[in-house]
Amino acid sequence: MKKTSKKSPITLFISLLLLGNTPVLSAPAEDSLPDIGTTAGATLSINQEMAMGDFYIRSIRAQAPLIYDPLLTQYINDLGHKLVSHADSVKTPFHFYLINNPNINAYAFFGGNVVLHSALLHYSRNESELASVMAHEISHVTQRHLARLIEEQKRTSPLAWAGTLGSILLIMANPQAGMAALSSTLAGFQQGMISFTQSNEQEADRIGMRTLSRAGFDPRGMPNFMQILADQSRYSSRLPEMLYTHPLPDSRLADARNRATQYSAKTVPESQDFLFARVHILTMYSTDQRPYIDELLKKYSQGTAKEQFAAAYGHAILLSQDKKYTEARTILSPLLDKQPDNIWFIDTMTNIDIGQKQYTSAINRLQDALKKHKNNPVLQFSLSNAYFQDNKYSQASQLLFRYTFNHPDDLNGWELLRNAAGKQGKRDEALAAQAEVMALKGQFDLAIMQLSEASALAKLGSYAQKRYDARIDQLRQLQQSYSQYKK
Ligand SMILES: [Zn+2]
Repeated sequence: MKKTSKKSPITLFISLLLLGNTPVLSAPAEDSLPDIGTTAGATLSINQEMAMGDFYIRSIRAQAPLIYDPLLTQYINDLGHKLVSHADSVKTPFHFYLINNPNINAYAFFGGNVVLHSALLHYSRNESELASVMAHEISHVTQRHLARLIEEQKRTSPLAWAGTLGSILLIMANPQAGMAALSSTLAGFQQGMISFTQSNEQEADRIGMRTLSRAGFDPRGMPNFMQILADQSRYSSRLPEMLYTHPLPDSRLADARNRATQYSAKTVPESQDFLFARVHILTMYSTDQRPYIDELLKKYSQGTAKEQFAAAYGHAILLSQDKKYTEARTILSPLLDKQPDNIWFIDTMTNIDIGQKQYTSAINRLQDALKKHKNNPVLQFSLSNAYFQDNKYSQASQLLFRYTFNHPDDLNGWELLRNAAGKQGKRDEALAAQAEVMALKGQFDLAIMQLSEASALAKLGSYAQKRYDARIDQLRQLQQSYSQYKK
């Protein structure tokens, strides 16, 4: 457990910010905490929160290394939505994002947007631990803690305050900026406060654990993951990033341990998808951690049946990355025979097929899988990509038009559509798709410029031209309404 007497200067500084003008001497009994801040609603409406959330996620797309991996996006969103469906007071849709960042961190910001650092999957030992962090973040959102903080700060201009907060969130999302930039930004905003209060934290733990348990996870996952953070801060010279925004005094860990014992003990079966996701993110996005990966795969290969599956999957990915396709195929084929619908296996086998230019084999497998899993976005995107790799650009475009219509926030879809349109010489379509990529990154000026160009290229009075012009109007309105968040 973290020793409170050995505080580094930055910890002290954050603590001072935390206490503000009205020191929190003791947290109120948890049952007296309101479930929803009644005053927060007066400060910032849900609609304003959602618009702000959308604005910041666009900025994060532009500045941070978001992981646009269809499999991981689906996994993390399925897991998140399973939790959300067991949460109370859900007022906004939820979106979960992964950022490639080796520091443990997670934050929820306006409008149900939850950002998770890839390190969470590195350090979580099971799905309950990972889900506990997500449940905690979901609770910050459902309890509207950010809006309540604004209210408590009695800011005369909640929008300006939220803007400051947003820029701090952006710095946190960017690993290049790092903690040095974050602490200097914090110092620059003496009156700002990004840390949740102790009572906010306790409430997020309490409600988060309830959600965690209701969703079928092990409540002990929460104190167990907190222990990982506490150990990190004890044995390392610097505090894990996550503790800057979610302070972890000894009492919080003790409370979580006690609370977990109040839930009936249950054995949660090991999640195969969690093991695949963990192996996938490590092998695909943490290539600099090869010794750790090798060690983990070795451990898994000697573990349970599910862990052995995950180990074989990881080895197949590593071999495929080294272009040792035949060896990769030898490992993966028997797995795929056993589980022909397994989307993780299909994905890697698609990469192997494409690597060996066996496009028809990949296309047939994906088409078969789509008959069983209709509209599965991972399979749809993979099939579009297989068409593209096989120079079947018009088939790729056809599928991608539908895909981007159903998943307009997926950057992957627009980029591939842009490339497929470009290969067919359809310059206006390529420009319009590129405009969507820019708009998703909040670069509205560029997006509008590209759409104007597309409109000029399109046949006068055509449906395409009307579509481009209508989109220009939409983006202008969005740009206008977001200008208030920019400093
Ligand atoms: Zn928190």
